[in-house]
Amino acid sequence: MELTRRSLLALTGAMAVSGSTAKAEAQAQGSIATRAALFRGVGQPLSVETIQLDPPGPTEVQVRMEAVGLCHTDLHVLRGERQVGMQPMVLGHEGSGVVEVVGPQVRGIVPGDHVALTWLPACGVCRWCRGGLHHRCAESGRILRGPQFDGTYRRRDSSGRDVGSMCLVGAFAERTVVDQTSVVVVDRSLPFEVVALAACSVPGGVGAVTNAARVQKGDSVVVIGVGGDGMNVVQGARLAGAKVIIAVDLQAWKLDAARTFGATHGIQAGPGVDLPARVRELTEGIGADHAFACIDPAATLLDASRSTAIGGTVVMTGLTPESVATTPISPSELLRGHKTLIGSLYGSASQRTGVPEMLRLYQRGSLKLRELVSRTYRLDEVNQGYADLTAGKNLRGVVRLS
Ligand SMILES: [Zn+2]
Ligand SMILES: [Zn+2]
Repeated sequence: MELTRRSLLALTGAMAVSGSTAKAEAQAQGSIATRAALFRGVGQPLSVETIQLDPPGPTEVQVRMEAVGLCHTDLHVLRGERQVGMQPMVLGHEGSGVVEVVGPQVRGIVPGDHVALTWLPACGVCRWCRGGLHHRCAESGRILRGPQFDGTYRRRDSSGRDVGSMCLVGAFAERTVVDQTSVVVVDRSLPFEVVALAACSVPGGVGAVTNAARVQKGDSVVVIGVGGDGMNVVQGARLAGAKVIIAVDLQAWKLDAARTFGATHGIQAGPGVDLPARVRELTEGIGADHAFACIDPAATLLDASRSTAIGGTVVMTGLTPESVATTPISPSELLRGHKTLIGSLYGSASQRTGVPEMLRLYQRGSLKLRELVSRTYRLDEVNQGYADLTAGKNLRGVVRLS
């Protein structure tokens, strides 16, 4: 890690001094005012405020945000289930927009480009990035800390206090400044809400099927939790040619929706429902080849595992609160069942290739992405959006900035 960081700074010399340089430039050129949704403390609603945004540093771009998905990860932060390094912090990590300004060292991104912002940076120089495995970037440990990729700040609140950015992105804002390592340029003809979802939940779900579980034609699949992530697992399984696709959710309407995305069966979860037994009934008595725990793994992982056949694959895509420290599956069940347990982040593939690939599949008509958007919200309705997410009202809510 230390070697990586040193080599990173050596290779991008300007970044090492860009903290003071960028600050000085900001004062010289002046910052702009922008509205943003700030995390100010656990249990408090997001606070929509006007903050000051400094111009981009040498390797950074300024983006006018257009669409941002309401994803569970930010909700974990609001509830204190996942710690971030500082507050205030602009939340939002599943966003799209238009590039307005680029720093002098930015390569391959120009003003006017439409972009997806990725919640993991791709530093380009660590062992993983050099191997094309950007989703494992060694710099990923910084995404919840707050400062920019170069360690300095571009945002201040009305009292002059530094404001951080969630996942190095801070997408719930009219404008943001991010390092080029968080940017993927996309086709300008694509709808912004589609690009936003393709920045997180779509590759996360589809990739879990194709890259993590490697679902084959004719396989059987059970998907627990068919919200933003899970619905993309369902359509990924359909694309992979799975014969049986069982959607599981607490909400009956989501099971109906799942059928339009490719599910062949639906099971409404709830007290007294023996999920493994129900899955066996639908899979010739042996269980599914693959099970995906897409919501609350602490509560769903054991059922997921027991719903699989001998030799089954169990994939976890959802986050748990940090307080959950163990998995409920016993080692002997894993061993005797010849099972494989996989944690899949960002669809287990590079976000730099995965995001454009999802958008190509959308353009070809192979993925339904607009249909995932249940409702759009204005920035000052962001808390309503999270209330609706918590109440299970949306497949995906999206904040539109324009
Ligand atoms: Zn997300
Ligand atoms: Zn890297």
